[in-house]
Amino acid sequence: MKPPPFRYAAPTSVEEVLDLLAANADAEPRVLAGGQSLVPLMNFRLAQPGFLVDLRLVEALTTLRTERDVLVIGAMVRQSAVERSPEVALAAPLLVEALGYVAHPPIRNSGTVGGSLAHADPSAELPAVALALDAELLTAGPSGTRTIPAAEFFRGPFTTALEPGEILTEVRIPRREGVGGYAFVEFARTHGNFALVGVAAVIEMEKDIVTGASITLSGVASTPVRAAAAERALAGTSADAATIEVAVDAAADELSPAGDLHGSTATRTDIARSCLRGGIQLALSRAQDRR
Ligand SMILES: Cc1cc2nc3c(=O)[nH]c(=O)nc-3n(C[C@H](O)[C@H](O)[C@H](O)COP(=O)(O)OP(=O)(O)OC[C@H]3O[C@@H](n4cnc5c(N)ncnc54)[C@H](O)[C@@H]3O)c2cc1C
Repeated sequence: MKPPPFRYAAPTSVEEVLDLLAANADAEPRVLAGGQSLVPLMNFRLAQPGFLVDLRLVEALTTLRTERDVLVIGAMVRQSAVERSPEVALAAPLLVEALGYVAHPPIRNSGTVGGSLAHADPSAELPAVALALDAELLTAGPSGTRTIPAAEFFRGPFTTALEPGEILTEVRIPRREGVGGYAFVEFARTHGNFALVGVAAVIEMEKDIVTGASITLSGVASTPVRAAAAERALAGTSADAATIEVAVDAAADELSPAGDLHGSTATRTDIARSCLRGGIQLALSRAQDRR
């Protein structure tokens, strides 16, 4: 199928984007980033915007830089550019690892970081990573700019804190203190397909003791979720095998993923346990290697 007719503009500044969204509010406008999710939705007529505002020419959204202890990624930075960036590899290796699981290289060449976050697919990798890394999402809209913590940005399946007429402009990821290890692990039926479950884990250690853990899951709820019980179970311990099992049990007890044709509630919970165990073990071993 092809989309119904729509009008189109390709402005060059954020101000023009906001003006166009406001002026065409009646046409249920949408911004177009990499088009990897929006265009298929339009072709299937699951999304029918009457006006498309293309962000491709807005240079202000393509920044990728480190500002003191914060990695700043513009909303329109392509996923493949992030994957190849030495700056990101240094400041947020978890993000690079997770991107390796997002679709396939040609899709990552077009798909953007902002598009993935704004699309807010509950199974997507980047929202879980943004949550694990305590990222802040910067927006611009009719009432000015806002800074929204990732923990408050994802509101439901394909639903975010973005208001009508507001766009995501930038992602800010704080560099972490201390010696840490990270891991992104997931289970997908075939590589490059959306995963049934994903786990992002960051573990910080001092000597042999876990001083901080940040663990999130995708695919088990309507938004990415934090495995707070697992984080608590690991903190202050040496994270031996028995403690890891306690952490996995604690996290799994808090999950109740909806079953669907890809997997029942029990199957998804079992997969989540396995991903949690694998993610914690890998992050821990990397933290231990770096001491
Ligand atoms: C075959 C296939 C497999 C895929 N597999 C995966 C996968 O395994 N994991 C995964 O995470 N993704 C996967 N994707 C999706 C891919 O990562 C998309 O690139 C991503 O979801 C959307 O990014 P985009 O830049 O293409 O956004 P678009 O498709 O252009 O936009 C998506 C939505 O976000 C909105 N939007 C975009 N940018 C902004 C902004 N700056 N401010 C406000 N709203 C904005 C748009 O209006 C639209 O509603 C897959 C896609 C395909 C086609």
